[in-house]
Parts: sequence; C-alpha cells; structure tokens
Amino acid sequence: MLARPDAYRCIECGLPYRATGFSYYHGDLDNGPACWTDRGILCSPRCSLAHHRKRATEGTLPQEPAPDPFEAPSLFRR
Ligand SMILES: [Zn+2]
Repeated sequence: MLARPDAYRCIECGLPYRATGFSYYHGDLDNGPACWTDRGILCSPRCSLAHHRKRATEGTLPQEPAPDPFEAPSLFRR
C-alpha cells in the first residue's frame, strides 16, 4: 500500500491525493488512484488525457503500459 498517500498529487493539475474530485480506482480511496503514468499519478481521466497529449507532443509517450503504482516502489518513495 502507499505509505504516505497524502504526499502525492496529480502531476497535471496538482490536486492532492484524497482531495475532493480525485478519481480512485473503483471509486475507493484505498484502491489507489484511477489513473497514473510512469511519471506519477493523475486525478482524473481528464488529466490523464491532458498528460497523454503533452507526452505525445514531447515525443515521450511510454512504449509500455505504466507499472501499477503499487508494484513500482520507485514511483512512490517510501
Ligand atoms: Zn489532475
């Protein structure tokens, strides 16, 4: 599980995890964020799309699906 979820926020709009409006996996905060990339978590499908477009413009879209944040300790330093 995320050790300190309050330390994380949407990498697009900066909305803190646990804040109103943050989308959780299956709508449950304990399940973690609904959207994420290899760079961090995203608060909503809207920010996920915005991030995707930004990465496409940068030419830095990941070639593989982002790792599950619970399976990628490097994303969430404990
Ligand atoms: Zn956001």
